[in-house]
Amino acid sequence: MKKMSYISSNLQDSITLAISAKAKKMKSEGKDVISFSVGEPDFPTPNFIREAAKEFIDQGKIGYTAATGTPELKEEIIKKLKRDNNLDYKPGQIVVTTGAKQALANAIYALTNPGDEIIIIAPYWVTYPSLVEICGGKSVVVESTESDDFKINAKQLEEAITDKTKAVIINTPSNPCGGVYSEKELREIADVVKKHDLYVISDEIYEKLTYDNEKHYSIAEIDEDMYNRTIVINGYSKAYAMTGWRIGYSASNIEIASAMGKAQSHVTGNVNAISQHAGAVALAGSEDELNESILEFSERRDLMYDLVNKIKGISCRKPKGAFYIMVNISKIKDTTIAGVRINNSMTFANLLLENSYVAVVPGIGFGNDDFIRLSYATNKENIIEGLKRIENLLSNN
Ligand code: PLP
Repeated sequence: MKKMSYISSNLQDSITLAISAKAKKMKSEGKDVISFSVGEPDFPTPNFIREAAKEFIDQGKIGYTAATGTPELKEEIIKKLKRDNNLDYKPGQIVVTTGAKQALANAIYALTNPGDEIIIIAPYWVTYPSLVEICGGKSVVVESTESDDFKINAKQLEEAITDKTKAVIINTPSNPCGGVYSEKELREIADVVKKHDLYVISDEIYEKLTYDNEKHYSIAEIDEDMYNRTIVINGYSKAYAMTGWRIGYSASNIEIASAMGKAQSHVTGNVNAISQHAGAVALAGSEDELNESILEFSERRDLMYDLVNKIKGISCRKPKGAFYIMVNISKIKDTTIAGVRINNSMTFANLLLENSYVAVVPGIGFGNDDFIRLSYATNKENIIEGLKRIENLLSNN
């Protein structure tokens, strides 16, 4: 048989999903696994959203909608972008997508010609490089450091720019690091973006999850030029605990939105009508449950941060957003633990899972092998027990 396409043969499996799958399998075999590998809230979708979806199903009118989203939902998204981000959009600038993931895929597809470079900041969310690859582009990775709270500055960005650079992906608050860019930092980055005539793909899916009075700021808010250059990506998975509903959206200039909408109309068509209705109700409704979740996440973050830093050999900084902590394991690399030589983050993650029944994500999946990522989208009892197991493993060494 003829060979499959070069791009499809080279795509990597998501390490996050691989670890979650292994942990799930061990759980199904009766093993008491504690998972710090999940990327979704452990809360249910708020009740008023579920009720609205049930009513919508009972009305029975579940047909195709416009490929880029229903007028009802677009209106709520436009109100939200004005309310939270002070951004003005018209319906033609909004594309409702199957999760923020599809919005990212649409954006990269709309901007990238073969060989175009897209700048990605490491540690990065696993999907970015693969999406760039699928679209025939080239990822250029800029390393951030733990001491800078995993954020890059304008100078670092400028050094990575070549005449092939098309766009930079900024994820704030970030997965996996929890970094939140300030308005000042984004203004400095925006100056470089404008100077080199780039686009920004601004992944704001964790917008609502910030702590310690930290406020999310969108780079599109800076001025009209940045507004035109930025594709804002957002969704419901993290803030509204709606991962399985598969709904997100983008907001951009009309030309990009039309290109994204056209592509989507051929690939998937509209997001399912039930989720679109639920999405409109979510944005129009109360944020009480969301605010309770933010409080709970913030307490869990503090707990996890304290416990990690009590364990010999590992450490972490306190992130300001999302629900992940990057734990520095560089001191235990190249040591032997429970008879296993820890060559890299993958060996350590495997040892933790197989020996201590704790699932974590190795940093190599995010482009930095000196870390593992712990998610605190799990209850406090699990956080205490999971970190006790990690402590036992390391102190018996
Ligand atoms: N962007 C980041 C940084 C994420 O972590 C995720 C999900 O984990 C997504 C986008 C995709 O979210 P969705 O479930 O809306 O597709």
